[in-house]
Order: sequence, then structure tokens, then C-alpha cells
Amino acid sequence: MIKEKKSLKGKLPSRRKFFKAAAATGVAAVAASSLAAPAVAADRVEAAMVATWPRDFPGLGTGAQRLAKRLSDMSDGRIQVTYYAANERVKAFDSFDEVASGNSQMYHGADYYWVKKHPAFGYFTASPFGFTYSEINAWIHFGGGQELWDELTDDFGTQSFIAGNTGVQMGGWFNKKIRSANDLKGLKMRMPGLGGQVLGKLGGSPISLPGGQIYENLVSGAIDATEWVGPWNDEAMKFHEAAKYYYYPGMHEPGSMLACGVNKSWFTSLSKTDQTIIKTACAWADEITMSEYNAKNGAALARLINDHGVKLEKFNDKVYDAFAKGAQEVYDEVQQHSDLAARVHKAFVKARKEIGSWTNLSDSPYISQRNRALGL
Ligand code: CA
Repeated sequence: MIKEKKSLKGKLPSRRKFFKAAAATGVAAVAASSLAAPAVAADRVEAAMVATWPRDFPGLGTGAQRLAKRLSDMSDGRIQVTYYAANERVKAFDSFDEVASGNSQMYHGADYYWVKKHPAFGYFTASPFGFTYSEINAWIHFGGGQELWDELTDDFGTQSFIAGNTGVQMGGWFNKKIRSANDLKGLKMRMPGLGGQVLGKLGGSPISLPGGQIYENLVSGAIDATEWVGPWNDEAMKFHEAAKYYYYPGMHEPGSMLACGVNKSWFTSLSKTDQTIIKTACAWADEITMSEYNAKNGAALARLINDHGVKLEKFNDKVYDAFAKGAQEVYDEVQQHSDLAARVHKAFVKARKEIGSWTNLSDSPYISQRNRALGL
């Protein structure tokens, strides 16, 4: 009952639940509130976090679960986050509405799943020919990206923070070689976000499916091809049982930023300290998730090739040039959507050029020279 009284400050998981609980306890709640020595800390925060990932899925699911636990650890248990994997409270793709409505307080997912609500969401996970992990973090934290992201989510009553990254994703799993754009024509391929729209421009049929449904659709032949993440995650999905050729690099998701979205009115009702704890935990989740992907992808790729007979293939320049042309068509359309979409695109292009001018002569040439000289 004490807890219910505290929820008047907006700290209970669900307003709906609060009204129900308040009605049930009625006068007793008021009477109890006047008693001394509450057993629950006055600034206790309870929140429900829904997610777009299956429970315990490596990196994505475990990363989100780790974030939920971290929030409790950082606050000595004062912040309690109840985590719900996909389908445990709502379906994966209903996570955004669940939080926007205030029924849950937080989600962990990828904001490009919401491109049908606004195409600019695509820029805040990964966009075709877009940023790598270090580039998108530079843009979000120091290049005006977070401000644009805030402007976008504000219309929906949410706010999003970086809370993970998968790094450069693989191009996908195919049952035939992709030698030219012609080989993509008529191809039914799971590929969400703006990347999927690029495939559509090249005559393919992009399909958006949550992670938990891809394998069955690939095995049954309902889809011809799929992308998902990279070796560590794709091995867990067992795509090698249904497709032979594994292509790289993926133009569609060069550094997919995962997001923790919060209900904004709930979030702003919290103390500045709790807001800082949540934002800091999200930044930690970003770094630790990326580290785990980088630590595990190499060994997983070797297993796929050596133990499962997967054929590793690289998209040739001709296919990449076709992707680039398709991407330009998609971006031309996105900019027509609204003033905000045009501004986000303009900022993205500017940052890609500025930040990319540095990464182009720092990370890539160094790794290439190091591995060449040492024969790695
Ligand atoms: Ca993907």
C-alpha cells in the first residue's frame, strides 16, 4: 500500500495498474499512508522493460537483460526493472506502442523497427551506407544526433538512448551466388528498415520479421534469403542449415545501434539522479555489448566455415554500386516525407562525410596494414 502511494509521483510500472490497485485498496491505502516507518524506500522506482528480442538470445537478449539488472545493481536495488522478452508481455513489434502508451516504461530494441511510424527512425539504428559503431556514437554524442533523435521521439511521447551495438553486419544468407543486381530480382529476403527498401528498389521483396520467426520462414521457403546480424548471432539461429552462401559486408546495417526507449513523461518524473543512472547504464550497455560482439564474431565465423561448410562470399563492386544507387533513391523519398526527415538526412550526410573522412584514414588502413604486414 505504501508502494501505491508512492506511485502518485509517477513511479509505478503502469498507470492502469495503479488505478486498479488504488480502487481495490480504497480507504485502507489512505489510512496506511499516515502510518510511520514505510518498509519501501521513498524513492523506489519500479519499471517494466519490454524487448524485441527472444529471451536469452546472445548479445541482443542477454544485453538487454544485463541492462535491466545493471539498473538495479547501480541503485542498490532501489530501481527495479522487470524484464519481458518478446511475447512475454507484448509482441516484439508492439514494444514501442507499449511504452509510448505508458503501459510499460521502457523497451530495448532497434528503433528502425518503427520506420512505418516515421522513416527517420531508420537513421537511429542503421541506415544503408551509413555509420559504423564508432561513427554513429560520434554522431549521436557529439554531432547533434541525439538532439534530432529526441525531436523525432518527442512526437510519440518517448525518448531513446544508445544501449548497444552489433557492429558491421553481414550481408546475409543466400542459396545462390549474388553476382549482379539481377540476382536480387524477385528475391524474398528478410531485411528490415531502409536497407530493406534498397532491396526493393533493386527488384527484391524485402520482408520484416522479428528474430524469432526467421528460421522457420527460411527453412519452409517462405523467404529465399535473410540477413540477421553477424557470425555469433547467425550461428545461434542455425541459418547454415537452410542457406549455403554467407555474404559480407552488409551495406544495410554497418553498425546497428540498439536503443533503450523510455516513456518520456515517466522518465521526466524521475529524479535527476535516476535519469542519470538510466542514461549511464545505457551507455555502459552500448560499450559492453559491442565488446562482446567483437570478441565472439571471429571464432563463430571460423566454426561456420570449418564445421558447417558455409561458403563465405564478398559482394563485388558491381553489386555494391547497385546498392548505392538504390540507397540514393530511398533517401530521395525519405527526404520528401517531412521537414524533420529532410533535416535528419542532411545532418546524417554531413556527419558521414566529416566523421568518415577520419575513420577512412584511421581504422580501416591501419587494420589492413597491420594484418598485411603480420600476415594475420
Ligand atoms: Ca540485421
